[in-house]
Amino acid sequence: MLERLPVPYGLVRSGVAPDHPKLKQVTRVFDRIAAHPFLTFVGNVNVGTDVEIDELLQTHHCVVLAFGASQDRKLGIPGEGLKGSHSATDFVGWYNGHPDHRHHAFDFDTEAAVIVGQGNVSIDVARVLSKPVDELRKTDIAEHALEALSKSRIQAVHIVGRRGPAQAKFSPQEVRELAALQGCRTVIKAADMRLGDVCQLESASKQHPGVSAVLRALEAVQATPEGASSPKTCTLRFYGRPHSILGRGCVEAVRFQQTRLEGKEFAQRAVDTAESFDIEAGLVFRSVGYRGVAMPQVPFDEASGTIPNEAGRVIDPWTKFPVPGVYVTGWIKRGPSGIIGTNRADSLETVATLQRDRGASVPSYKGGAASLHRLLQSRGVRVVGYDDWSRIDEVEKATGLAIGKPREKFTNIEQMLAAGLVSPISNRSLASA
Ligand code: NAP
Repeated sequence: MLERLPVPYGLVRSGVAPDHPKLKQVTRVFDRIAAHPFLTFVGNVNVGTDVEIDELLQTHHCVVLAFGASQDRKLGIPGEGLKGSHSATDFVGWYNGHPDHRHHAFDFDTEAAVIVGQGNVSIDVARVLSKPVDELRKTDIAEHALEALSKSRIQAVHIVGRRGPAQAKFSPQEVRELAALQGCRTVIKAADMRLGDVCQLESASKQHPGVSAVLRALEAVQATPEGASSPKTCTLRFYGRPHSILGRGCVEAVRFQQTRLEGKEFAQRAVDTAESFDIEAGLVFRSVGYRGVAMPQVPFDEASGTIPNEAGRVIDPWTKFPVPGVYVTGWIKRGPSGIIGTNRADSLETVATLQRDRGASVPSYKGGAASLHRLLQSRGVRVVGYDDWSRIDEVEKATGLAIGKPREKFTNIEQMLAAGLVSPISNRSLASA
């Protein structure tokens, strides 16, 4: 298993919100698999720079690509480049201490923030902005984020969707968790919850039970009496297409075009009306999904940001033939959708295809991890093995423990290497594989 960073777990480490520790427990499954003698963790190796896919196929019989969708998507509207306008991807990577995002700076010296898009990432961002900072202190949030957020003046967060509540991509439990935040009232206008005929059909669909589940969660929030006054509010606003970000030099407001829905059930589009509205804010996050990035030597579909495949078998779009030995799974296979569990079914499909292609024949040995190790060594690549990661893990946990956190992550690759590597190449299992 090759990994670009010296640490494993991908989005579980740098995407899952710090206040969702239960979701991170899935790493235990990986730890069990990593202990299997057939698996070798090869960290700190960049495929495409340190080693090519063709070279991996010289040492192994097949390659499964599972590198996700790391890039953010743009809105393409005026003002997007203003100071204070950010992608949720950068913010999430920053508060989770990902080395690629450590350098970002967010100015929380403002009273309001707007989040464009209504998926689960937008709720993660809203929660981190609205939660009492003392609650975040007990999580594995990066220390630099904690320090910056502790000075935040944000009182109001607006999560705006271009379509209606029946099309929101939230999970019901995420909505409920947001509404239960201490010191923050979640607000939805009654008018926004009225459903047109087509939305009613969507809500009644037995094939898509998720729609009515989200609607029920949103209705419960909308119907909740105001109760004791909360210092902060989080407003879910629907039917607003981002038109432009306004400001002189930095973000001052976001202009939305009011929309209505047009089209058949589950294919309704947001169509602009003549009305527009502005929300004043000093910060704006676009949370409109991720995008896959191409890898050298591998076919790529620019339109969907995925690798063309049939049931996980990579297909050359020109010849329409499979690319021998190359398979794909996860977000880079199907696009950035679904929760962690969705990837399990996806992997099963890919592995079943791989096994079918292999048939009963026993291929000749190609050298495996030991050959790859020699190749990387000859290029001076500092490979991080599982033993090295275990040392990094121990240091991170000990550093966290000292300040009341489950872990304090290294946010810098050099620090990770210094903590993990006894010698430049020290992984016993790799050397003996
Ligand atoms: P997402 O679920 O695809 O939501 C993207 C949102 O952005 C949608 O509301 C979409 O609206 C909107 N959008 C897209 N393009 C837009 C544009 N040009 N202008 C305005 N709005 C636009 O994406 P995500 O929130 O990044 O989540 C990615 C995946 O990770 C999802 O499957 C999510 O469930 C998962 N995730 C799960 C958890 C969890 O389980 N706790 C946490 C985080 C992420 P339309 O529908 O109109 O296109």
